[in-house]
Amino acid sequence: MHLKLSSEDMAFQEEVRDFLNNNLSDDLKQKSSIQASIRTDPDTAGQWAKILGKKGWLAYTWPTSMGGPGWDIVKRYIFESECALVGAPAVNTMGFRMIGPIIDKFGTQEQKDFYLPRILMHDDSWCQGYSEPGAGSDLASLQTKAVPDGDDYVINGTKIWTTGAHYANRCFCLVRTSTDGKKQEGISFVLIDMDTPGVDGQPILMISGDHELNQVFFDDVRIPKSNLVGEENDGWTVAKYLLEFERGAIAYTPTLNAGLRSIEEIASIELTGHGDRLIDDPGFIKKLRDLEIRVMAAEFTEKRAMSALSTGQNPGAKSSMYKLMGSELGQEIAELKMEAVGHYALPFLPESRVPGNNITYPGPEHTRTVTAKYLNGRASTIYAGSSEVQRTILSKQVLGL
Ligand SMILES: Cc1cc2nc3c(=O)[nH]c(=O)nc-3n(C[C@H](O)[C@H](O)[C@H](O)COP(=O)(O)OP(=O)(O)OC[C@H]3O[C@@H](n4cnc5c(N)ncnc54)[C@H](O)[C@@H]3O)c2cc1C
Repeated sequence: MHLKLSSEDMAFQEEVRDFLNNNLSDDLKQKSSIQASIRTDPDTAGQWAKILGKKGWLAYTWPTSMGGPGWDIVKRYIFESECALVGAPAVNTMGFRMIGPIIDKFGTQEQKDFYLPRILMHDDSWCQGYSEPGAGSDLASLQTKAVPDGDDYVINGTKIWTTGAHYANRCFCLVRTSTDGKKQEGISFVLIDMDTPGVDGQPILMISGDHELNQVFFDDVRIPKSNLVGEENDGWTVAKYLLEFERGAIAYTPTLNAGLRSIEEIASIELTGHGDRLIDDPGFIKKLRDLEIRVMAAEFTEKRAMSALSTGQNPGAKSSMYKLMGSELGQEIAELKMEAVGHYALPFLPESRVPGNNITYPGPEHTRTVTAKYLNGRASTIYAGSSEVQRTILSKQVLGL
């Protein structure tokens, strides 16, 4: 792994900057900048995903064999960093990051031919139906049942915390097809069209006021057996592969670095109680530099994990380490940003973050999303494996406890 950019990589960086300059409109940037969710609203993000798809850069983590650009880890990192720096909309990554690689590894040829080209062009929006009211960290306890009936499965049960289910048209889902043996042994991995009769969703609002999450109910939902991915009762193998992708494939540090840079910008505008610029306050700067050093350390860990992934190795415990570091640092950055904007952190106006709203936010523009992002970001140490679960993995796999 080389840490300095080669001349080829620098030329690629210029190509990405040119592309962003020419294709990311001010309108898309503005709509994206006023939002606090991990994902930009489906209209804005969908438009951007289509533009990326046309360029061949939506599924930018995919090898050329799957129709992706075949970028190495450095190019991916450059792309992510440049997108984070200009505030590009955050697209729904569940298609190309999660279900795409699963279908490529475990799917039938028919499934590959149908779904992969659609993911490349963002023709579908996917959601993940794993968690249930009684099965989160202990996922194998899931109870949603799929009962074989002729050429179909009939599904009954409920999924919770399903991000984006209210606009997704497809869901990849873990269901119980057997109660024999260990609980991991009776699980299957299926694909469900969200417009199938019997699928219903209820919104769950987050503390930030955002609607990202849902509870989804399945009431006698009939899907064809051809929607099974992998073998019946072997869904746990598929799920484990996906969890590794989920933890091992998200790059946190481009966003963390963009967050640090924006604190620096805010601190050169905002004043302390004594009327000095915040950036000149030694106490504040110490906190900022401390975070910068820890983000740099996280960046090296992240690159090590990505390097392992790009050479086909299993990132193993490294992905737990950087999920832990990335999510906790993100929360600390959000907290320092709140401190930087002072009393402007107080207004709670979720409506002012809806694209096209006509609400005047009672503070400078750079303060609009600060508190909402802080609140929304509390979830990052829960989803994709909570911090406690990651620490347990590290204690077992690294420390051998
Ligand atoms: C914003 C957000 C988006 C999400 N999106 C999705 C989605 O799209 N699809 C989906 O399927 N799920 C999604 N989830 C669900 C997420 O995966 C679960 O919330 C997570 O796995 C934790 O499960 P739980 O909420 O049931 O908490 P629990 O598993 O009940 O955990 C409760 C607490 O106990 C701790 N704990 C649990 N087990 C252990 C243990 N063995 N050792 C130590 N501590 C433990 C946890 O760390 C936590 O603090 C999302 C969650 C959030 C917050």
